[in-house]
Order: sequence, then structure tokens, then C-alpha cells
Amino acid sequence: MLSCTLVGALPCTAAPPPLKMEINSMSEALQLHAQTLKSGNNQRNHQHDLTKIFTFSALSSNGDLTYARLILDSVPSPNSFHYNTMIRAYSRSPDPIKALHFFLSVIRNSPTIPDKFTYPFLLKSCARLGLTHQGKQLHGLIVKSGFGSDRYVQHSLIHMYCACQKLGHAFKVFDKMRERDVVSWTAMIDGLVDNDRPLEAMKLFEKMIEDKVEVNEVTVVSVLRACAEAGALSVGRRVHEVVKEQRIELKAHVSTALIDMYAKCGCIESAMRVFDEINVDKDVYSWTAMIAGLASHGNCQEALDLFNQMQELNINPDERTMTAVLSAYRNAGWVREGYTCLKTMHKKYGVWPTIQHYGCVVDLLARVGHLSDAEELIKNMPIKPDGVLWRTLIWACKVHKDMNRAERLIEHLESLKMDSNDDCGNLVLIGNVYASAGKWLDKARTRELMNKRGLVKPPGASKIEIDEAIHEFIVGDSDHPEAEKIYAKLDEIEEKLREEEYQPKLHEVLLEVDDEEKAFQLSHHSEKLALAFGLIKTSPGTEIRIVKNLRSCEDCHAFMKVISKKYQRDIIMRDRIRFHHFSNGICSCKDYW
Ligand code: ZN
Ligand code: ZN
Repeated sequence: MLSCTLVGALPCTAAPPPLKMEINSMSEALQLHAQTLKSGNNQRNHQHDLTKIFTFSALSSNGDLTYARLILDSVPSPNSFHYNTMIRAYSRSPDPIKALHFFLSVIRNSPTIPDKFTYPFLLKSCARLGLTHQGKQLHGLIVKSGFGSDRYVQHSLIHMYCACQKLGHAFKVFDKMRERDVVSWTAMIDGLVDNDRPLEAMKLFEKMIEDKVEVNEVTVVSVLRACAEAGALSVGRRVHEVVKEQRIELKAHVSTALIDMYAKCGCIESAMRVFDEINVDKDVYSWTAMIAGLASHGNCQEALDLFNQMQELNINPDERTMTAVLSAYRNAGWVREGYTCLKTMHKKYGVWPTIQHYGCVVDLLARVGHLSDAEELIKNMPIKPDGVLWRTLIWACKVHKDMNRAERLIEHLESLKMDSNDDCGNLVLIGNVYASAGKWLDKARTRELMNKRGLVKPPGASKIEIDEAIHEFIVGDSDHPEAEKIYAKLDEIEEKLREEEYQPKLHEVLLEVDDEEKAFQLSHHSEKLALAFGLIKTSPGTEIRIVKNLRSCEDCHAFMKVISKKYQRDIIMRDRIRFHHFSNGICSCKDYW
């Protein structure tokens, strides 16, 4: 092991050149270190080799941070390079708080003053840990020490505030930046998308275009991600135009982002066009995006045909490709084929099944009512099943009305230790299962548990794009400026549906209230509000596209079908699982979702 005296007390003799050795592993680093000590290099060469060993130990993925620290502690007068390297290494380590502790000890005990390279890594640690308070203190220090206008520091501040979900603060930094370049834009857009605020990300992109800031492929990919998320087709199309106008090179990842955007905005034909237009070799990501897009639209056979073509071209599928393929089987309801694919995928394609792959097949079995098989598959899988898998099965028990199994599985689920996200999902599901069986006392018990643990069920929300603006509705929304017109439209629709002898599916409202109240609640689900708004705002015959954050209820699904016929409108709705194309009273999912 390295000792301080050894390192400090090297003889300074006439100079053999520094040891030339590239370091690839810690054992090589140790070997070089021993050689350096033995060879009696002069002080300068010794420092050169030591720096090399220190940098490798600190920053390489094969390094050893403890060893780096030992070297640092043995250096008689470390400089800012040493300190910054150490802070950088800690900020990337599994324990980023150490970067902050180290920094504090340095400013207390050493005359070395932090420079502009010190702060970005400290801010990165705060970002990783979500430490807003410490981040703000650093911000103060940055301004005091005169680095407040350094562009790299500013980007790091924006990133830190976005990661800590303090978007207001991020915007303030952003607004103060004297020269906003393409990087700071992009940093802000990325932050907004990651914080689930795609609408603001798109606004920012539009401002970029207005201000004639030249955009690059990184910006384009970020903003396409935002459009895909929000279902903002016309903005997405405009981004595509910008790509063409500014002759941004259509590298594979830009094409993949375009395919993904078009598919997620419900335009599978446009996605296909982009896919076909890729003239350089398509990579596995583009193939996967296209296969996933087709599967989510229920074009399952086409998805599988594409998968075959891909193999003919000797492109190896990866984990994501296999998820896309299995979701094609799931959405088609092809049990035998899906199950076989899962069982043979490692042998055939060299991809070990992950929890997502098992999830697809459990869902596939459960939906068609093969509940025992699904349960067996979960119990015997080689990976530890997560809450999602159990919830998928319990949901299916509710749908197929197997209450005994549901209660048994609920007991099992409650015995597992879950994090709070899972906890919330579990209790919402359990409450739904009890309510569907009329077990109101049990349902009340789960609600009490949720209150006690401070858990809030996420509300159902639907988005619709009208005249290039996204409108978002939550259930029972009255905040929209045109709320009055929307509810009047819903009344008119209901009147018309009565003529069709449409019956609201009251069992979907899981509260102990009378039928009239249930019907009232059902009619105000977010996707119905979005649909009514779409009918008001678009001319007859125009397609209506809606994006919903959760799975749609049976009543909304039936409602969309009737409207598509009665009003002669194609409705394309994306829910958490897949797309539904409603046309002339029929849905592309064949009522299987
Ligand atoms: Zn509904
Ligand atoms: Zn459907």
C-alpha cells in the first residue's frame, strides 16, 4: 500500500525519461507507481507519472477513488487541478455528497481558491442529490467569487435547478445569461422535458427559432421528445421542417426521434415515411422505434414483419427491440407466439429477458384470462418480480372477476416492502378492486391508509392540440377559459347519445354514490372534456387526437366509439398502454386493451 513518506521522500537524481505506460487497470496503475518509486526518476518526471496515476485512479471507471485520495493526501502542496479532479470524481461516484464535504474541507484548510472548474461538479452533486438549499448557497458563492457570468457555470446552474425542480430559478439564470447560445437553450429544454413540462420546452424552442438561434441536432432531439410526450403533432411537424430548412444532418438518432414523435402523436404513416427515407444504414434504434410505433398502434403483424426484415439484414435486436416485439404480441393477443418468443429469445437473439419482457407476457396472459398461467410465470421467473407485475395480474383479476385470487394476491402484495411510488399505485389498485366487488369497508380502509401515508392518486389528464396550442384537461376541470361551452357541448352530446340508446357504464365509477351521481362523474372524465373541446374547435371531418396519461375506462372507450359514428369523426387516442383509432363506431384495439 502506498505510504506518504515514500512518495514525499523521493531522491532527485539525474533524469531518465518519465515511464511511458498507458494505464488501463488499477493493477497497471499500481505497477507503474511501484516502478516510479523504484526508478528514482527526477522530481518533475515523478510528478508527471504520479499525476497520471492519480487521474486514472480518480476518474477511470476501472479506477479506485480511495487510492486516488491516498495519493492526494501524500502530495505536499496540492493545487486546484488535484482538488477539482477529486471533486469531479466524487460528483460521479455512488456517493456524490462526498464532493461537497471534500470541497468544504478544502476551503477551510487550504489557501487554494476555488475556480470556475470547481463549481460545475459541485452543482452536479447537488443536482444528483436534489439538494436545492446547498445548490442555492453555491450559487451565492459563485456570484460573490465573480463566476456568475461564466457560461459553463451558468449551464450547470440551470441543470442543477431543473434537476431540483426549481424551474423558476432555472429561468432566472437563463434570463440573465447575456449571450444565450444553442447549448443554454438546449440545457433548458432538456431540463423542462425531464421535469414533465413539455409545453414550456416547446415554447422555448419556438423562441429560439424566432430569435434566429441556430439549432443543432441535440436541440432537435430534445424538443422532439417534448412533442412526443405532449402529443404535439403540429409543433413536431414544424421541427421536422426546421430540420429540413437548416439542413441538419439526418443522423440516425434524429430520424429515430422523428419516428418516435410521429408514432406517439398518432401519425404512424408519417413515422413510416421517415423510416423509409433513412438512406444511410438504419441502426437498431430506428428499427426499434418503428416496430414499437407499429405495435402501439395495433399494427402488430406489420411490426412483426419489420422485425423479420431487420433480422434478414443481420441487425441484432437489443432489449428494447424485444420489448417492442413482445408488446406487438401483447397488443394482438397472440398468447402462444408471445410466450414462445419470451422463452426462446435468449437462445435465438442473445437477449436475456428483463422484467419489462416478463411484464409484456404476464399482461398478455392476464388479459385473455389465463390468470393461473400468468401467476405461475411471475412466481417462477428468474428475476425478482416488481410491484408492476403483481398489479398487472391483480388488475386482470378485477377485469375477469376472480375476487378470490385478487384478495390472495393483494395480501401478498401488501406483505412486500415497496417504495412510496409503488405504495400509492398499490393502494389505488386495491381500492379499485374492493370497490368493484362492492366491498366499501375495505375500500374505505385503503383510502384511510393513503391519507395516513400522505399519498395522492395522480389525476387522469388528457391533452389535445388545437391551432398549435396544447390544451390539457383534468377530470371535472372547470379552469379552462371555454369551460362553459365545453360542458354545454357535453350536454348536447349526451342528448344525442340517448337516441343511440347508449348506456353509461356506471360500474366504472367506484364510489358509494347513487347512479345519477355516477353518470355525472363519468361524463366529466378528462378525455371526454378534451373530445368535446375538439368537436367545438375543429371543422367537421377533421381527425381528433387525444393523449391520456392513464388507461381509459370502459365508459370513455364506449363513448368514443359512439361519437366516432354519430359525428363521423376519426378519433385517435393514446393512453398509457397503446393507441385507439376510433372510426365509424369501431376501435382498432377490437375492445381489447
Ligand atoms: Zn373514463
Ligand atoms: Zn380501443
